[in-house]
Amino acid sequence: SDTNADANTDGDALRTPIVAVLGHVDHGKTTLLDRIRGSAVQEGEAGAITQHIGATAVPLETVSEMAGALVDPSDFDLPGLLFIDTPGHHSFSTLRARGGALADIAVLVVDVNDGFQPQTEEAIDILRRTGTPFVVAANKIDTTPGWNPQEDVPIQQSLEAQSDRAESRLNENLYELVGDLSDAGFSADFYWRVQDFQKNVGVVPLSAMTGEGVPDLLTVLMGLSQRYLKGEMAVDATGPGKGTVLEVKEERGFGATLDVVLYDGVIRIGETIVVGGQNEPIVTEVRALLQPRPNAEIRAEKRFETVEEVAAAAGVKIAAPDLDEAMAGAPVRVVRDRDVDEVVAEVREELAEIEVETAEDGVVVKADTLGSLEAMANALAEAEIPILRAEVGDVAPRDVAVAETANEEKYRVILGFNVDTLSNAERELESSEVRLFSDDVIYQLVEEYEEHVAELERAQQETVLDRIVRPARFRILQDHTFRQNDPAVVGVEVVSGTLQNNRNVAKFDGNEPTRVGQLSGIQHQGDDVDEARAGERVSVAIDGPTVGRQIEEGDELWIELPEKHAKILEHELSEDIPADELETLNAYLNTRRKSDPFWGK
Ligand code: GDP
Repeated sequence: SDTNADANTDGDALRTPIVAVLGHVDHGKTTLLDRIRGSAVQEGEAGAITQHIGATAVPLETVSEMAGALVDPSDFDLPGLLFIDTPGHHSFSTLRARGGALADIAVLVVDVNDGFQPQTEEAIDILRRTGTPFVVAANKIDTTPGWNPQEDVPIQQSLEAQSDRAESRLNENLYELVGDLSDAGFSADFYWRVQDFQKNVGVVPLSAMTGEGVPDLLTVLMGLSQRYLKGEMAVDATGPGKGTVLEVKEERGFGATLDVVLYDGVIRIGETIVVGGQNEPIVTEVRALLQPRPNAEIRAEKRFETVEEVAAAAGVKIAAPDLDEAMAGAPVRVVRDRDVDEVVAEVREELAEIEVETAEDGVVVKADTLGSLEAMANALAEAEIPILRAEVGDVAPRDVAVAETANEEKYRVILGFNVDTLSNAERELESSEVRLFSDDVIYQLVEEYEEHVAELERAQQETVLDRIVRPARFRILQDHTFRQNDPAVVGVEVVSGTLQNNRNVAKFDGNEPTRVGQLSGIQHQGDDVDEARAGERVSVAIDGPTVGRQIEEGDELWIELPEKHAKILEHELSEDIPADELETLNAYLNTRRKSDPFWGK
């Protein structure tokens, strides 16, 4: 088979650099990858580019054919470029190798009209953190007003065909982009002006749609890799293979299989491998190595062809027994002449780096890969949300059962990041009080959960407020005694606060409130009401006092506050009650504390 034609298996060799494409949604990542694949197929001989599992290999000859005068193949000894097919920083940050990023180099795609957007910033942060060299594809230059599209040509050639006006419009956008990069801490310039790509980020203006500038991008990627990554690309091409699981997939006829990017060494049929699993590293034997069949038929059995061995860097599907518990993002190691236990320990160690800290009580987290689980755990730690259990995989009935055991109501949730829910888990969810939140953007998932918690707290406070005695101050109006006693019925004005029925009524004698009776009815314009707010005039029935004895027209009365209620109002609900009610509370407390300084504290 020639599907792994660029593999060199004669000992020391330079492997293909692994390239990831990142950027904000809709800025053109997928279109760019399609363009690279498409033009490479057109330009090169049939089969010059090879479709791997999860990746596309563009050999040096194809790059140089596409780039024309830009590339002299004799300047290069790296074999080409391997593009990971799943764009986006999610896959980038979750695909790790050797504790760093799986990709050796990255393309940050930015729409020249849109400039920096939230996910551009996130991508930049990840690139900075992982120390990954990158170039910026300033995409969609063809949308510049007055642009005259030039299919697939290098950028200088395209610029020659543009009006001064179109070119200066483009330049304005490009300078803005250079400014944004500088604000993010990267000194950047048009790539043809960059001397030292280790100090400066090269900006490549291009259109993923028309292909102009794409040859430049490939050239810059080749040049950058050749110059700065060559050391890292020197591998023992026949050594035991090392890779990272992209995805665990069921395939008809094979069971659970692994889509793997191999970044070092060789893997062969029949070899023993160790793979990171849900519980323990999995030790198994390679049954088949599968590559997509060129011009694949759709029927599953015909989609793949088997190869004897695969050398880094390459994407490959591994079929082997016992892979059900393998995890996306986990390491894969060929054992070869070493001791299995040693390799198991190595895998365990690498997994331990990603272990998530859990607590006695907290939320259940599910994520699609180890790396994304770690990213979720970091985001939750930052938001001070504890984790009870964190696992890679779809939401299963067991997760619902675990979430149900959380003590606090707000923790009885499952946060699913980039995962599906198994149908039997959906049934479990329906019959339980566990809430599932799922999203494929981490910060949105955390926000959704935080809103849920805020909602719960609001609901809880509302029920507390329902039960709590609310402060009110009211005055008996002159000439508004409708009944002297049993009960006394008088017209009052609520001075401040919320007057509620059935509360005890007090009068301050000096600094001590003296209870005079209990409200047994409130009427507003002849209708019975439960409460009256500040400013309202109502008539009230008070059980206990007699007008003219314990109370008089013109008297100021208060709702008597039980000490415990005063305390809750002051400490927990002061932000939830109206300002005039808070003022009434403070006035009550001030007076009360003159005789008893620690009352309600
Ligand atoms: P992604 O979300 O970053 O993968 O973005 P896509 O590749 O899906 O592109 C988003 C939209 O922008 C699609 O409608 C593309 O056709 C369009 N698009 C991408 N690149 C270009 C470009 O260079 N020029 C123009 N005019 N449109 C583009």
